[in-house]
Amino acid sequence: MTTPTADVRMFDYVEQWHGMRTEILAAIEQVLDSGSLILGPCLRSFEQNFARFLAAPGEAIGVGNGTDALTIALRALNVRPGDEVITTANTAIPTVSAIRMAGAVPLLCDVDPDTLLMDLDDAAARITPRTRAIVPVHLYGNAVDMQAVAEMARAHGLHVVEDCAQACGTTWRGNMVGTLGDVGCFSFYPTKNLGAYGDGGACFTKRPELAQAIRSIRAYGCGTTYQAEREGVNSRLDELQAAILDVKLRRLADFVEARRRVAGWYAERLAAHIVRPRVAADVDASFHLFVIATRRREELMSRLRAEQIGCAVHYPTPIHRMPAYAFLGYAEGSLPVSERMAARVLSLPCYPELPVEAVDRVARVVNEILA
Ligand SMILES: *Cc1c(COP(=O)(O)O)cnc(C)c1O
Repeated sequence: MTTPTADVRMFDYVEQWHGMRTEILAAIEQVLDSGSLILGPCLRSFEQNFARFLAAPGEAIGVGNGTDALTIALRALNVRPGDEVITTANTAIPTVSAIRMAGAVPLLCDVDPDTLLMDLDDAAARITPRTRAIVPVHLYGNAVDMQAVAEMARAHGLHVVEDCAQACGTTWRGNMVGTLGDVGCFSFYPTKNLGAYGDGGACFTKRPELAQAIRSIRAYGCGTTYQAEREGVNSRLDELQAAILDVKLRRLADFVEARRRVAGWYAERLAAHIVRPRVAADVDASFHLFVIATRRREELMSRLRAEQIGCAVHYPTPIHRMPAYAFLGYAEGSLPVSERMAARVLSLPCYPELPVEAVDRVARVVNEILA
């Protein structure tokens, strides 16, 4: 008789929840007993602790989700309708939704074939006099070369808004991503490195006037009065999610270390010829996703599925090839690396609690198929 083997899931928060159940339930109870549910003491506490985690002088501002964090950051920087904002075609849809919600026109550049991150030479070639901001995306928990971004931004007078949704805890030259541009934007979507039990997000900035603008925009453009100083939106991180995040934040460094350990196990086990995005020596990646690239993706995926092993593709279609963004006018073949790699990338299960035995199983199947 063969021993039944449990599924290996792409992501699973349940074990983490069980480990923190008492603390989290106590935090939830405290919020409900307090009589304060929106813009209260838990949000203030979380904002301070999150800024401390990022270990740079500045302020964190909690918002409703990561997409809003990006939109509000662009609006706080006075990006206006008709302005262009440059980012990459190999990203999650929300990077581009956010640029559109700010009223701006997304300029899409290709990615570097080795890192799958923004190709900065291609970005530079696409910048026009109407380009106001650049959104480097620290995809998969890797990090874009922020010195090169800063130099380009200075040369072209661009604001820098970092999309750190997948890179909470990643460092570049020893500094946390999100502290290196004008504003760093984070998502606390449940699967992210710091996950809420619902939606959440945050902006981080070292510039007090930007922090104030972001605080105002997230709450209808008001300060503490019923007078709108500017046009805003409603995008608040509520007290319940803030209280939950504040508890989980205490373990975030451990969660990130655990992701690095899982990535290390894969690296030890996967055959040397299997292609993975390069992580530069300057980067200590947080491995939000563990990605490989293969021409035989479909075959590998169906075999993983047959073995009850989860996997996913981030992302199967580059932004410019999606129906919603056809109006941007990028033809097929216009961003060739993004298009080619979209057909090859595959994300393997990777989360802090994933046991080494599961990594063994996944790696064995991958090695067998791609031998
Ligand atoms: C998750 C994600 C976002 C958006 O975050 P939400 O909280 O879901 O709005 C933005 N950019 C990237 C790269 C993401 O992965």
